[in-house]
Amino acid sequence: MPVNLLDFDTAGLAAWLESRGEKPYRARQLMRWIHRAGVSELDGMTDLPKSLRAALAGEVVVTAPAVTRDSVAADGTRKWLLSVGTGNGIETVFIPETARGTLCVSSQVGCALECAFCSTGRQGFNRNLTAGEIIGQLWWANRALGADLAAGKRPVTNVVMMGMGEPLANFDNVVTAMRVMLDDHGYGLSRRRVTLSTSGMVPWMDRLREACPVSLAVSLHAPNDELRDRLVPINRKWPLRELLAACRRYIDGAASAPDRADDEDDPVPTGVAAKWQRAGSPRDFVTFEYVMLRGVNDTPSHARELVDLVGDLPCKFNLIPFNPFPDSGFERSRAETIVEFQGELLSAGFVATVRKTRGDDIDGACGQLAGQVLDRTRRRERHEPLEDTRA
Ligand code: SAH
Ligand code: SF4
Repeated sequence: MPVNLLDFDTAGLAAWLESRGEKPYRARQLMRWIHRAGVSELDGMTDLPKSLRAALAGEVVVTAPAVTRDSVAADGTRKWLLSVGTGNGIETVFIPETARGTLCVSSQVGCALECAFCSTGRQGFNRNLTAGEIIGQLWWANRALGADLAAGKRPVTNVVMMGMGEPLANFDNVVTAMRVMLDDHGYGLSRRRVTLSTSGMVPWMDRLREACPVSLAVSLHAPNDELRDRLVPINRKWPLRELLAACRRYIDGAASAPDRADDEDDPVPTGVAAKWQRAGSPRDFVTFEYVMLRGVNDTPSHARELVDLVGDLPCKFNLIPFNPFPDSGFERSRAETIVEFQGELLSAGFVATVRKTRGDDIDGACGQLAGQVLDRTRRRERHEPLEDTRA
């Protein structure tokens, strides 16, 4: 089987080349051809020595998952359905806005964590995506959107790991892919522009801080353990007290991460910058995502409980109107309820935004990715690895 060069970050590719008796520094050249220029054929990599191209011929490929559907919504949101074998599909969504273009990337085929309001969770878990399948979504999107990174034509300015799956449950592959996103020989995105969203896998949040600090979003969805146990079952393993402590550690650790200050057009929210932004950090606050479920977690008293819960933790809130799906058992909160909830957070001095629903006509909204996953894993097995790693 040929090796897929999309599976490597620069360090991994250098090590692989070296193991084959090649010069490790060629990795940087290869990465630039593959990711910055979007070239998939060795013949197109014109400044690579012929001897290296000949040595690699037939041994390597550059292959992203095949696109089986490509839909564009009335608001410009674009969704690709990608085939990852055995009849399974994953989705990648591109959300263009005036000053930025955000790509919502999947990390697993399905998800084992079974959050009550999530259609991916309903579908069960099939398998982790490889690093190549993860970075392949950005590689493909850049090609499809006519990117020319060398010439500064950069349609994707931000990546959010908010598609199908729990990214921290596929830690190594997600970190490898995110390193390519950040690498100047890859996509050169700043750490502020790459966001990982987790349902709260506490030990892996600490590891992420060490391995690849990027902007962190945490799916909170409830202000107390009783409700969160029900909505986000992983809370039974790592309850709110532990989750919030991990958020605090993440922010402290992130402060020493190197970064470029290239985000003048994407500032941290007013107030947050002055209070918390420290030189060299990706984001010195956590974004809490909070899905708005009618009559479940959306009353003003829930909002006040949330304010008490987070205390002085540097954070902002992103309220997500629930995206309904068949037999979900939940309804989206009314618009006026969401405004009232937001008002409680604002008046307590927090930054709180309401996520716009995008691409409704193509089921494009993050967190509601269509398609059935063939669930190959029994429920008990799914939970065992989590038990094992709990210290
Ligand atoms: N597994 C990760 C990231 C993927 S989901 C996580 O849970 O954080 C991205 C976001 O969409 C999460 O905040 C998730 O809770 C939310 N989400 C899931 N289903 C949703 C739905 N039906 N409506 C609105 N948001 C949803
Ligand atoms: Fe998995 Fe996230 Fe969906 Fe929960 S919300 S089931 S963690 S994808």
